[in-house]
Amino acid sequence: MLRIIAIDGPAASGKSSTAGLVAERLGWAHLDSGALYRALTLAALDNIGDAGRGTLKGMGREGWSGPRIVALAEQLPVRLVLLDDVFRPEVAGVDVEEAIRSDRVTRHVSGLAAIPEVRAWVNARQRMAVEGLEVGGGSGGVVVDGRDIGTVVFPEAPLKIFLTATADERARRRLSQRGQTVDGELVRRESQALAARDAADSNRPIAPLKPAPDAVLLDTTALTLEQQVARVVELARGRFPG
Ligand code: C5P
Repeated sequence: MLRIIAIDGPAASGKSSTAGLVAERLGWAHLDSGALYRALTLAALDNIGDAGRGTLKGMGREGWSGPRIVALAEQLPVRLVLLDDVFRPEVAGVDVEEAIRSDRVTRHVSGLAAIPEVRAWVNARQRMAVEGLEVGGGSGGVVVDGRDIGTVVFPEAPLKIFLTATADERARRRLSQRGQTVDGELVRRESQALAARDAADSNRPIAPLKPAPDAVLLDTTALTLEQQVARVVELARGRFPG
């Protein structure tokens, strides 16, 4: 069986950075499931438009219907492509790793991710991607990060991590990542935006953000990225000896 590490947690908790570095150190593949939700959001905004009149609530019910988005995803297509052990998001043959990080995509992604048909499609893609690794036999394992990896997508993963950090600390990290000044007012606004996305992700009826019962909780508020990576690698070496 392929070795899977599931890393879940709220927005900007450092999941993807941690997952990427852990995968690199173990020589495993990395799959960022949020990238697929973001790529679908980008595709929907560009091809259907902001059908929800800007409100997250409206989007699920209006032009952004599940079947319409899934059909669009198949048609374009929206895909994950494995390149040097990293799954990269592609829309219509174009790598969108950078384009999916825009504010416009970030504002709309939670609305799209609450649509059941969309989640079923994304989950199937992730499982296919991981099965493909197993068939190819190239990787020793895969680190997958998101919101529901340990609870829904790969509940059989032998190692599950739930990363947390205070909203203010996550806001500071996000701002400095973007090269913005970490000033009080900006931190307050960014922290509010993150909290709103967490609330949308945690309160949705389907696959809400929450730790799996057997997840290791890791509060990274006072940890550096290097420290949190080292901790997960240590847990991985214990769980996957040899
Ligand atoms: O991880 P990232 O912030 O890029 O994820 C973007 C959004 O995608 C999240 O806010 C959430 O709405 C959705 N998502 C999800 N389930 C996952 C990964 C991401 O619902 N497994």
